[in-house]
Amino acid sequence: MRIDTLLIARWIIPVEPEGMVLEDHALALSAGRIADLLPVAEARAKYPDAAEEAFGGHALVPGFVNAHTHAAMTLLRGIADDRPLMEWLTDHIWPLEQKWVGEAFVRDGADLAMAEMIQGGVTCFNDMYFFPEVTARRAARCGMRAVVGLILVDFPTAWAGGPAEYLSKGLALHDELRSDPLVTTAFAPHAPYSVSDEPLIKLRTLAAELDRPIHMHVHETKDEIEQSRKQYGLRPIQRLQQLDLLGPAFVAVHMTQLTDEEIASIAESGASVVHCPESNLKLASGFCPVAKLVKAGVNVAIGTDGAASNNDLDVMGEMRMAALLAKAVSSDTSAVPAHAALRMATLNGAKALGLDSEIGSLEPGKSADIAAVRLDGIETQPLYHPISDLVYAASRHQVTDVWVAGRRLLKDRELTTLNPEDICRKAAVWREKLITV
Ligand SMILES: [Zn+2]
Repeated sequence: MRIDTLLIARWIIPVEPEGMVLEDHALALSAGRIADLLPVAEARAKYPDAAEEAFGGHALVPGFVNAHTHAAMTLLRGIADDRPLMEWLTDHIWPLEQKWVGEAFVRDGADLAMAEMIQGGVTCFNDMYFFPEVTARRAARCGMRAVVGLILVDFPTAWAGGPAEYLSKGLALHDELRSDPLVTTAFAPHAPYSVSDEPLIKLRTLAAELDRPIHMHVHETKDEIEQSRKQYGLRPIQRLQQLDLLGPAFVAVHMTQLTDEEIASIAESGASVVHCPESNLKLASGFCPVAKLVKAGVNVAIGTDGAASNNDLDVMGEMRMAALLAKAVSSDTSAVPAHAALRMATLNGAKALGLDSEIGSLEPGKSADIAAVRLDGIETQPLYHPISDLVYAASRHQVTDVWVAGRRLLKDRELTTLNPEDICRKAAVWREKLITV
């Protein structure tokens, strides 16, 4: 096998095995994949013709996986802060979306989101939004890995008139992406309160036939539970269970209101949970019982949610918040230690999306989706434990280089496939339009 590049770093944190830190090792890359991981001296002897890239003060980690976001909503960042979820959605976000969301909005919003995410070490995002075909094309264009949600809601939007059209447009996009190496699909019914039984049953059959994940907001707030009890006589989880939706392909986002019985049944089903701590805090939605879920054996990943409710797409920040919040919520300082938080932000996200054989850890055979984080600055000295510094002290501004499938999308803090000046100029144009409402 021809090795094109050796990435040599002070530390390599492969995430699998959990907690391992390798010093003075090299990742040997071949045609966009990790071919070998070995000590530097051995690497040079074994692959004398490979080009070398040295990261003498850095840790190489798997690219972060943002397991839940709404990329295009980055154009709504900061437009309606400090309101509860339903008021925020119905009085502010949904009317704005009704008026403005279309191909141009999604194109410019997705580019803005991807620029922010790549600069923060994120290599893969799981998206849920209208015009997913536009997000898919923009991701493919800039070389970022994405799982685009085939969104489904009961109500009409600029993208589709009703459930049948959402599903047929989604299936067309799934077909279009069938051979795309980086962009894949998931079914994305918005939430139990916005999708009725009949389309959910159709979606369940399609997801099973096409072997795709099902990505859904579930148990985000107390109000959602109450409304479901009134309308269906069931808590949302019970309803989804009756509809036979829970299973290893199910990706439940938020999950702030859970009984012990529900935690046990989620564990038994094999479903994943995406924890979005900052969005839950900002919307005062409640606390996801992460420590209990982990203890029960549930795969917990991390998402930022959209920048309209966060207000950033900073997975490193989210990882730290997840580790801290889990300790506070469970009154247990050992809940979600640093290495577990790092795994949530990488391999667990990959697993939730069915991509764990491809990404999420730095192991031979996997795709070269990598972030280099500089740890030799003031913020992370004297540096006893690289994983501790990465989770508890470092910030996304220390990410210097990012690769997706071996292609360098960030080089010494410069985006290589996106134009930040152009992106900011377009964001300013949207601001002028949206601020007048
Ligand atoms: Zn969301």
